[in-house]
Amino acid sequence: MSSSLVSVAYIGAIILFILSLGGLSNPESSRRGNLYGIVGMLLAVLATVSGPRVTLDGLPWIIAALLVGGSVGLYAARKVQMTQMPELVALMHSLVGLAACLVGFANYIDPMAALNLSSAEKAIHEIEVYLGILIGAVTFSGSLIAFGKLSGKIGGKPLLLPGRHFMNLVGLLVVIVFGYVFLHAETIDAGMIALAVMTVIALLFGVHMVMAIGGADMPVVVSMLNSYSGWAAAATGFMLNNDLLIVTGALVGSSGAILSYIMCRAMNRNFISVIAGGFGTGGGTPAKKGEAQPAGEVVSISAADTAELLREAKNVIIVPGYGMAVAQAQHAVNELTQLLREKGVNVRFGIHPVAGRMPGHMNVLLAEAKVPYDIVMEMDEINADFPDTDVAIVIGANDIVNPAAQEEPGSPIAGMPVLEVWKARTSIMMKRSMATGYAGVDNPLFYKENNRMLFGDAKKVIEEVVKALQH
Ligand code: NDP
Repeated sequence: MSSSLVSVAYIGAIILFILSLGGLSNPESSRRGNLYGIVGMLLAVLATVSGPRVTLDGLPWIIAALLVGGSVGLYAARKVQMTQMPELVALMHSLVGLAACLVGFANYIDPMAALNLSSAEKAIHEIEVYLGILIGAVTFSGSLIAFGKLSGKIGGKPLLLPGRHFMNLVGLLVVIVFGYVFLHAETIDAGMIALAVMTVIALLFGVHMVMAIGGADMPVVVSMLNSYSGWAAAATGFMLNNDLLIVTGALVGSSGAILSYIMCRAMNRNFISVIAGGFGTGGGTPAKKGEAQPAGEVVSISAADTAELLREAKNVIIVPGYGMAVAQAQHAVNELTQLLREKGVNVRFGIHPVAGRMPGHMNVLLAEAKVPYDIVMEMDEINADFPDTDVAIVIGANDIVNPAAQEEPGSPIAGMPVLEVWKARTSIMMKRSMATGYAGVDNPLFYKENNRMLFGDAKKVIEEVVKALQH
């Protein structure tokens, strides 16, 4: 394929990626958005592989790499549980970072890469390599730690080293100094040493940055690493002179940045203080997971009594959280919704922007179970309606309905907007125990007078409620 034909294919792919992002902004058009993305990527890969930059000798290697990468991806996508999706996404971001690092090093030692370049062009090329590896290394190690935190392999508590801001500052200065050394290196070996020092510091910075993030701030970090992976891909595009990679990377980078901003707003956080880390400790004392201190009386309720309450209700709001994903309760939730709607109950869903473990987590699950989109509301759209609600059902959610965010200024999650389920006539919390949520903060909702606890696995319990309602 000639280079001009490749350019045309690239433009087609870029348009498809933009349409894909547009489609993904709405649950109704998200399937179509995904399809655009798949076709765009197929076009991009085919055009690149059949373009003038791939020689016949290199083709078997590329095909072998495609087969290996494709099979691993297919296996992971088929095998992964819905609850492991956020970890998988974090792991994939780390691969983009790793790719940027490897391309950077390969590009630097490739004698052909800087051939026939003027000294100004060579300097620009080296800056691209240096920045590409820098962003790639931070993305790689940061995403690996995020993977550990999301999968529970690393605790959610922030690691706050003494003088951590100072350490970061020193790291930044060293990176700048070695950048200078790199650009003025006489030999490849000298340049490699500067690159290696910077890479180690960038890797440590990535680890340190994400380790310092408190549980409740993880959503911002997940979307921020998403954005970094885009910039890492764009940097790779600059190194390889590939326009498509640059544009695609910039699309991912900027949409991730917008998502980070939205997440910050949803949590009432300042972006800089999230990056500086440590939120989740604040002035409060987070309870250890599973060690909620009894702070009052807890009233439990049975599935049969819950069904009775629902039978009497006119307005019901369901608030799903991470536990719905764990229990895979979305289909049972849909069944309950249908049943109540058939009985004339006005059922709606209240979705918190950081519910679950990844942006849009709950929307994906509810869409999978075919819950009608028009009854799925965002927090801002529905929060004022709780006082007129008969029953608010909280399904495996905890942090996102924690009144301490409003009532206890010393709480680690103070200031975070939450769904005000306690304002409903009765709130019912479905969960297995008195354990805390991801942020590790006690929840005073358990002890409110109008709150009832329905203990058990969400799927099992909802199925019991459905059965009781049918009789
Ligand atoms: P939480 O993690 O606060 O609470 C989930 C609750 O579900 C737990 O308290 C648990 O209690 C219960 N649960 C677990 N398994 C089951 C089950 N099988 N059946 C019934 N209940 C179950 O989740 P939320 O959705 O309320 O809040 C999300 C939290 O995750 C926030 O702190 C957010 O900052 C953070 N986060 C969000 C990300 C995002 O992008 N959305 C990314 C990373 C973190 P029990 O064990 O007693 O059953």
